[in-house]
Amino acid sequence: MDGAHSVALDHAVPRQRTGWTLTDAALALAEPQERAIRHRSGPLLLIGEAGTGKTEVLARRFESLVAEGAAPERIMVMSSTRATAERLRQRVEQLLDRPLEELWIGTWEQLGERVLREHSTAAGLDPLFDVLGPAERLAMLLDRIDDLPLRGHEIRGNPAGLLARLLEQIDEVKAGSEPPDPELVDLIAAHDRILADTCSLDRGDVYLTLNRLFDERPDVRAQVAHRFEYLMVDELEDTTRAQRAILAGLREDNPNQLYALDLGGDEEGVSEWALGFSPGGGPVLGEPEGRETGRRAHSDTPSSSLVASVELTRQFREPETKFWRCSNERAQAQAVAREAEHLIAQGTPPDDICVLVENQQRGGPVAAAMEERGIPFHLSGPAALFQRPEVRDAIAWLRVLADPDDSAAAARALTRPPVELRSADLARLTTIARRRKLDLVSACDAALESPQIPPEARERIQSFLKLYGTASAAMEERRADVFVRRLIEAVGLRRQRLFAAQPEVAERLLGLSRLAELAAGWARREANGSTRDFVRHLSAVADAGVEPAGVVEPPAPGAVQGHTRNAVKGMEFEHVFVLGMERAAGAERIGRPGRTGLVLARVERGDDGESRPSDFYAAALSDSDAEEEAHAEELFGPAEGLHATYRMLREEVLEASWKAGRELSEPRLDTAVDVNRAIARYLELLKLAALAQRPGDEATEEAIEAVNGLLRQVATPEQQAELDASSLDAYLLGSEREREGRRKLIAARQEPSLEAFLPRRGDGALSLSASDLDLYLTCPLKYKFRRVFGIPQEPTINQRFGILVHNVLERFHKEGEDQGSEEGLRRLMGLFEAGWRRTGFGSSDDELQFRDRAREAMRLYWERERESEGEPVWLERKFDFRIGEHHVRGRVDRVDRLPDGGHELIDYKTGERKSEAALESDLQLSLYRLAASEAWGLEANAGSYYYVLDAEKVPAPVGPDDAERVERTVFQVGEGVLGQDFEPSPSPTVCSWCDYKLICPAAES
Ligand code: SF4
Repeated sequence: MDGAHSVALDHAVPRQRTGWTLTDAALALAEPQERAIRHRSGPLLLIGEAGTGKTEVLARRFESLVAEGAAPERIMVMSSTRATAERLRQRVEQLLDRPLEELWIGTWEQLGERVLREHSTAAGLDPLFDVLGPAERLAMLLDRIDDLPLRGHEIRGNPAGLLARLLEQIDEVKAGSEPPDPELVDLIAAHDRILADTCSLDRGDVYLTLNRLFDERPDVRAQVAHRFEYLMVDELEDTTRAQRAILAGLREDNPNQLYALDLGGDEEGVSEWALGFSPGGGPVLGEPEGRETGRRAHSDTPSSSLVASVELTRQFREPETKFWRCSNERAQAQAVAREAEHLIAQGTPPDDICVLVENQQRGGPVAAAMEERGIPFHLSGPAALFQRPEVRDAIAWLRVLADPDDSAAAARALTRPPVELRSADLARLTTIARRRKLDLVSACDAALESPQIPPEARERIQSFLKLYGTASAAMEERRADVFVRRLIEAVGLRRQRLFAAQPEVAERLLGLSRLAELAAGWARREANGSTRDFVRHLSAVADAGVEPAGVVEPPAPGAVQGHTRNAVKGMEFEHVFVLGMERAAGAERIGRPGRTGLVLARVERGDDGESRPSDFYAAALSDSDAEEEAHAEELFGPAEGLHATYRMLREEVLEASWKAGRELSEPRLDTAVDVNRAIARYLELLKLAALAQRPGDEATEEAIEAVNGLLRQVATPEQQAELDASSLDAYLLGSEREREGRRKLIAARQEPSLEAFLPRRGDGALSLSASDLDLYLTCPLKYKFRRVFGIPQEPTINQRFGILVHNVLERFHKEGEDQGSEEGLRRLMGLFEAGWRRTGFGSSDDELQFRDRAREAMRLYWERERESEGEPVWLERKFDFRIGEHHVRGRVDRVDRLPDGGHELIDYKTGERKSEAALESDLQLSLYRLAASEAWGLEANAGSYYYVLDAEKVPAPVGPDDAERVERTVFQVGEGVLGQDFEPSPSPTVCSWCDYKLICPAAES
């Protein structure tokens, strides 16, 4: 039989916990599945949704083929995801009851690479070719960035970030998408040339090369097709065109192929090619169109007569689905952590709870919210290795050894084991570094002589310097991989972990070994590279958050599992939270990972302002009977737990009322009992409402007693008996104790006082500027790193550019009367060119892009000035005034006198332009207006931002309560700083640009 058949799986296999834990007896398969298992000859298409047992059918068919005499190594089974491949392998080994060395079960990438290695000469490849992951490719591109056609892309000081995004686009094109612009086609060619120079392939190349090989060498194709008597493919829906072309090619020589397909409710999107495997389908397999790779597509020629397909019915139990509308990202993260805490308290193992985020950066707020509740949380993903504390410690040492000016790395190496300098001593050290203009390592030397450093800190600094000196000498002499291993031993990173009696010790040691393997892989490829080159590679890869090749993450037992949406396919959990559903990208890849509970959560106000529910979310909500639940950001405190309990009990009250109501309609002997029970539940709900809203700080125990006393006055003896039998009071007191424990835990973690290092003026008052306020409101921990510790940072290209533009414009207005004339334009351009040279900008693509844009911007600035009605009267004018006990200081870039006699305050910006609407709650210009009035006695009735690169002036809205708002904010921030409240407030946008990622605990898992 050589036709493709399709069998619909219309009966559910019992769902399984992580791994294959059910006995065979429990897996009673329905007739269509049995039919698929018994199928022996010709292609067969299985169509079934998640939970219909497709993967189990593949494993059982493998077992049955072997039972009939087929050799296991002559059956190839491939899937798109590692999770599914691993489950298949485990299940087959379980069914065959023996471990097998030579199984051909794996992902497309693993198996494709094995086949190519066996036929490397025929494929025209070096026998020792490497398959590189995104991290290695990123590093290679960074090394050769000047050879890449990037002028059309905005680099904006972050070439690693840009290249990481472009690599994703390259992969998409290799998987079959159209290139978004012609420059990407050139970039792909340059990228492929660089890989070819080092005898390397990327993952997409594995399939394209295999496809070309089968196309050009039918003898090799026939050899492979006959070597594998049976070929089975799970997750057919995720295959690329090149992969399907490979299947079609092999099928010509051996039709014994079985495909498992989950249309996942997206019949329209998949049907175009899926039909190639089923009735009425045309030839749809082939190489992506529009590629100029020189590789010929393999045409699909389904010679088969095809049997009819069967409509599928959903037979497995749907999890209960809830819809959350969260006021912001933090509210969403808090709601997940709260719910996870309840689930764990009710007996759900933490690793059976999964949180799905759009990408790894979006996992930060969840990690912080889990941390607040002491819930272990593990976020998997490409860059997970770089989020491990022990790996970050090793990276910090490598970075500071390679560059002593890397202050963030030095701060981490100094404050983490084995040195463990206390934070107050780090602040002393950074003060010395600032005053003497030294890097932190040299400041350590200087600190040994300083009387400000206490003896205990001096000892720690000495131990740091000793380790630094030894490692620094070895760094020059050793190969990168040898050096990394030595460093791990010398700094004692392995030892510390061995003595920490934690269950995750082994996992941490694995993290360090992986780092060493990464160095070994790099040293193999870059035989002449120095350890410093490796550190540059490692930093770029870790910062861009891309996946190094061959790094497989170990499991994280006992922790709530965090995954990105596109990595969860093939996995199952008891409860799943899908976050960020205001953006639906990748939602179709999620499958159905939740067995009992599924929460779809969306955020109303994100980094980019207000957001609407995605179509995916809206459709799911309208298909269900559920109502959206609203979640607002809540301060961490006792009342928050009461709110959560209130919500839970509200459901119980409704249920109890419903039950009692039914019995009232058909009274029985015990109807009164149920009615009294329902009333007692309602009284408990009242109790919770009273406790949650009580004013003052009365202890929970006393407050419960007081409310119980009042309830006793209204409850009948029967209802009182119900209340006495309830465990609610014990639960509330237990929760209170837990929270107290958490508070103590956080308090125990607290650092010694940083009182002496808070930024103050001579009179002892706190000093705050507009950018301090913005910094603290954005992330209090970032404020601490920058303003309290004063950790020195090399200015970025964006910052250097901003300073240059401010200086040029100031001098342009100060130094001449010719601003409106052609001479003025020449002077402005001259000032810019001289400043550009003096500031030390070079000729990288990134710098040249800034220069080109700035030249044009200067010309437009001059034109606008000629037409401007305002006349600059002050430039860079300083202010200092008091709000309450705090000093507020700063300087205004420019103050213009307007024709009507009023004044306009102008602030130059060299970053991205904001709209007037986005400036609705702007603080900076409101503060400047207040400053003008308080410090200069000037009533400025207008304020604007001048976006220099866009040559646009955007007025900031003026509100009647602006002054009050500024004062409120200054008090709020002042209180936070004086109270040393420096909790991190992670958000994807801010953290991705943060200089302190390496030392920030919120950035590690
Ligand atoms: S990475 Fe920076 S911005 Fe993000 S939480 Fe840490 S300190 Fe704050």
